[in-house]
Amino acid sequence: MQGSCSRCGATGPALSEPPMPGRWGQAVFEQVCRACWDAWRSEQTLVMNHYGLRPWVPADREQLYRYMSEYLRLRPPG
Ligand SMILES: [Zn+2]
Repeated sequence: MQGSCSRCGATGPALSEPPMPGRWGQAVFEQVCRACWDAWRSEQTLVMNHYGLRPWVPADREQLYRYMSEYLRLRPPG
């Protein structure tokens, strides 16, 4: 995390590494604090169940990342 967290605005502990490969992992790593990432990890289980998303399916994974970016208020990765 560089500066303050995109979701809560705190400058608290950052993640030690990108939580997933690729550009979304890098965006989370650069923008989100550890507490908000943990909050999303709980939330994403509910989201996947609610929408019937299968993370091993690329289209479903993209949809999940969209929910993640809204939840975490991510700036889109470049
Ligand atoms: Zn935060």
